[in-house]
Amino acid sequence: MASHNLLYLPGDGIGPEVMAEVKKIVAWMNAQGIAKFETDQGLVGGSAYDAHGKAVSDADMDKAQAADAVLFGAVGGPKWDKVPYDVRPEAGLLRLRKDLGLFANLRPAICYPALADASSLKKNVVEGLDILIVRELTGGVYFGEPKTITDLGNGQKRGIDTQVYDTFEIERIARVAFELAKTRKNKVSSAEKRNVMKTGVLWNEVVTRIHKDEYPTAQLEHVLADNCAMQLVRWPKQYDVIVTDNLFGDVLSDVAAMLTGSLGMLPSASLGAPDAKTKRRKSLYEPVHGSAPDIAGTGAANPIAMIASFGMALRYSLNMGEWADKLDAAISAVLAQGLRTRDIASDAAPANATTTQMGEAILRELQKVA
Ligand code: NAD
Repeated sequence: MASHNLLYLPGDGIGPEVMAEVKKIVAWMNAQGIAKFETDQGLVGGSAYDAHGKAVSDADMDKAQAADAVLFGAVGGPKWDKVPYDVRPEAGLLRLRKDLGLFANLRPAICYPALADASSLKKNVVEGLDILIVRELTGGVYFGEPKTITDLGNGQKRGIDTQVYDTFEIERIARVAFELAKTRKNKVSSAEKRNVMKTGVLWNEVVTRIHKDEYPTAQLEHVLADNCAMQLVRWPKQYDVIVTDNLFGDVLSDVAAMLTGSLGMLPSASLGAPDAKTKRRKSLYEPVHGSAPDIAGTGAANPIAMIASFGMALRYSLNMGEWADKLDAAISAVLAQGLRTRDIASDAAPANATTTQMGEAILRELQKVA
């Protein structure tokens, strides 16, 4: 059995609390001989700053580079609000993304049947929803130069951000989207603003070519990003994989996220380029939520986003898609039984579980299907 090298970076606040539930699943899978996980742990964010004055140490960066998958909790909290900018907790996450070359951000929006009533949209619009947003993460307007505010000397200032994309950046994110689509309904919707942006024209051109030359059996549609936002709220089930740039992806993935309810439910993955020899991609898996200092230490954190992030690692980095499916089924079953942490509670299904109770219930369900 192949062994897999996992690095835990639990971070701050509720990060270690939700990571603890993943560790139990990993330990059980090891004990059962389902997998052979070699695990290691490092510090990131405020906890790393407290230990060695950096948001992530070079030694932990080396471990991240060597790992088959990095599991990241969350960073930040009021304790570190005043630390110098370049060692603030978020700097740890940014360094990981940059040094590991994680250019593709994957955010699934899945609506578990038991939570369909919790969405702000009508039940029939979201029930059974399963879409994946693939966002370009390292280019575009957040990084393009010039990026300045200039004093025009007449009482006015001018702010400039620059949207830049080169062909290779669009090619590689398009390939990620088409590859992932193969494992799903094989449909890709590419969102840009070619009607008003040159980067949109190039994006459209490159995605069209990659489709024609490399993935002709996939279904491809182009959609203007503003229309995509509207369609996501109108009838999201029309989508399978949506591929888009950094800026539009930031907005569209938040829209898609809220279709399914709480922050405590949302996993994500960030992937780099495949290694030429091993074909292995650098990868980091993390819940979308932050360190939630308001509930840290109270046992109220929902561990599902973190557990589902581990599920994404099984699927996308560890070639254990069958176990990712089983884990998703276990989450679904526990929700169907009415187990709720505070963030996903409703009048009909009140809060009745702590972080640990939710995590252990999911593990018990997983043990039943194993
Ligand atoms: P947050 O995501 O931490 O919390 C927002 C709200 O959602 C809070 O009320 C919180 O209690 C709730 N919440 C979040 N995750 C939950 C979970 N798993 N279960 C139940 N409830 C949950 O965002 P914030 O309050 O804006 O930020 C808090 C800190 O986290 C800040 O220091 C911020 O910089 C940091 N942050 C880190 C990341 C990251 O590590 N990737 C992301 C966002 C924010």
